[in-house]
Amino acid sequence: MAAPGLRRGIQRLLGGSPSRARLSRPYSSGPTLAEVLQLPKKQMTKLLYPLQELEQHLVPDTRLNLHLKLFDPSPENIERAEGIFAATARNRIEYLSSAVRLDHAPTLAQPEVCFIGRSNVGKSSLIKALFSLAPDVEVRVSKKPGHTKKMNFFKVGKHFTLVDMPGYGYRAPEDFVDMVETYLKERRNLKRTFLLVDSAVGITKTDHIAIEMCEEFALPYVMVLTKIDKSSKGHLLKQVLEIQKFVNTQTQGCFPQLFPVSVVTYSGIHLLKCFIVNITKPVTTM
Ligand code: GDP
Repeated sequence: MAAPGLRRGIQRLLGGSPSRARLSRPYSSGPTLAEVLQLPKKQMTKLLYPLQELEQHLVPDTRLNLHLKLFDPSPENIERAEGIFAATARNRIEYLSSAVRLDHAPTLAQPEVCFIGRSNVGKSSLIKALFSLAPDVEVRVSKKPGHTKKMNFFKVGKHFTLVDMPGYGYRAPEDFVDMVETYLKERRNLKRTFLLVDSAVGITKTDHIAIEMCEEFALPYVMVLTKIDKSSKGHLLKQVLEIQKFVNTQTQGCFPQLFPVSVVTYSGIHLLKCFIVNITKPVTTM
């Protein structure tokens, strides 16, 4: 059983106590998986499988549309993936380098995943949360207008590289669009693109441009819905269903299952880590 103090702490994160005001500040390190696994089932599901937690509020037909069970790893699988995201002397997780052009990017043989999204969608917060077990990793944020926007490469042991792409917005300079386009089109070891959409806002015009880019280059990509703690359950459900409908009917390359996350409650973060580990692991030949 979790210590009472710890449990109270986690319950606060889950919104179970009156001190909700504290939740406006994203939780930087998050509860460990061991802590999550000791929670009552309902709370554990909410943290590990947020989409499934929403399931009970849906009519059965809608549940089918949500592709809830496409990626449904066991807690044991999630735990294995957690190990890969934990920095140790033998599993070094580190910032490698930054690049403004693809030909300045490090040449790496290992599989790569990249994170894209409009500015303020919660991308740096999410990457920080993914690296919470590698406290030495510094996720650089350059938000000031006029600052050079760079692609930042992080090495996760011998397993894969994670690339933090610059956030896009309405006034993305042309060279920035070129950089992102060239990277997405030509990066050979790119296994999956994670496209972040703010769950409280839904798919914006700029998100549509990124989606069109992924579709045009026939990239396999995944939609991650950020900041799910911000909306009421009703609003979140409405958004999730609308986005899911869009994915089902308007996209070819998007993985059909959505990944809702929050860095405040830490919902969906462990699942996302497990998904990344799964899609980057070497294919074993018999
Ligand atoms: P980026 O520009 O995409 O890197 O966005 P940031 O990670 O800097 O986040 C933008 C704002 O959203 C910041 O004020 C964050 O504190 C906030 N934020 C990020 N993730 C979450 C989340 O899961 N929940 C809530 N409530 N706020 C978040």
